[in-house]
Amino acid sequence: MADKPDYYELLGVDRDVDPDALKKAYRKQALRHHPDRNPDDPAAEERFKQINEAYAVLSDAEKRKLYDQFGHDAPGGFEGNPFQGGINPDDLRDMFGGDLFEQLFGAFFRRSPVRHGRDVQVPLEVTLEQVAEGGDTRLVFHRQGQCKACDGSGSRPGTRPPKCSTCGGLGQVRVARGFLSMVQTCPTCRGDGVEIVDPCEACHGRGSVDEEVDITLPIPPGIATGHKLRLDGEGHAGRRGGMGGDLYVVVQVAEHPFFEREGDDLVCEVPISFPQATLGGTIEVPTLGGKARVKVPAGTQSGKTLRLRGKGLPGVRGRGTGDQLVKLHVETPSRVTERQKELLEEFERISFEEAGKEPPEPRRKSFLDKLKELFD
Ligand SMILES: [Zn+2]
Ligand SMILES: [Zn+2]
Repeated sequence: MADKPDYYELLGVDRDVDPDALKKAYRKQALRHHPDRNPDDPAAEERFKQINEAYAVLSDAEKRKLYDQFGHDAPGGFEGNPFQGGINPDDLRDMFGGDLFEQLFGAFFRRSPVRHGRDVQVPLEVTLEQVAEGGDTRLVFHRQGQCKACDGSGSRPGTRPPKCSTCGGLGQVRVARGFLSMVQTCPTCRGDGVEIVDPCEACHGRGSVDEEVDITLPIPPGIATGHKLRLDGEGHAGRRGGMGGDLYVVVQVAEHPFFEREGDDLVCEVPISFPQATLGGTIEVPTLGGKARVKVPAGTQSGKTLRLRGKGLPGVRGRGTGDQLVKLHVETPSRVTERQKELLEEFERISFEEAGKEPPEPRRKSFLDKLKELFD
């Protein structure tokens, strides 16, 4: 899919284009490349389809976000008929006006009667380890699947349903409205073109049955909470063998006992003791790949952050890897023994003596100096 043209380039817009400018650009390109207006150019139809696909994706905030992050390699991809569940015809009617809409797009929308199955949305919890590594996961969900006994036809296997008597099998009827005549989906067979007189026993003529689906789903590394993975045609079965809806897997990254995620970086807070902070030393910290040993410099203040390069999460589209930030929290002892108390009191006394009656810590010194200036 790498040689597919970029959606923004197809519409001739910048990547930060706002919805209004996007509409204008799309309108211009759709008019210019409409196959009826380019009867001598055999490539026009394909170009027109791509322009509409680009608009279907970029005019949908969620799909646009996915496209910006993953490009054409987005999970599930963006392929599919843009006139079938992609572009909203009412949107185009507003944009082009009723007459021009009918002239330019009527045929495209009519070619896709509503036989498409509904979409299914399923939540999926993934661990931070899965975000880091990617890989396959198992997903079990329910949907209205195509009846296998009758292949979705709804008729008893081996029988063929007669043509619909209202539309004669076309699935559409012409309705006169004043001077205009319009094509509508047949109200009797709802576009099927047939009447079920001898229904399939397995699905009672519906053509679909409730089924449990168990699939293996590849998790792209770097995925985040709120991302949606789309699987074409894995939603509810379409009507009478029509195309299935899509499956949307909504990702939720599970909480981790140690890590908070900040973009591609992982942040963890590690407590250290007052002597460790003062004297420095080596401590053990968790990373996604196991424990790591980290040097704490002598004289570390609480809140200091150490950076472990490349120990974060992979960037989406393979752009680099984040870091792990180790936030050191110096813990003050909340209970001390008599002996510890004596030693600490002695420590404080010596600190002042050695620094010439001045506290040796720079922040405390400047604080006491300011206090003196203000009140003495
Ligand atoms: Zn009919
Ligand atoms: Zn059936």
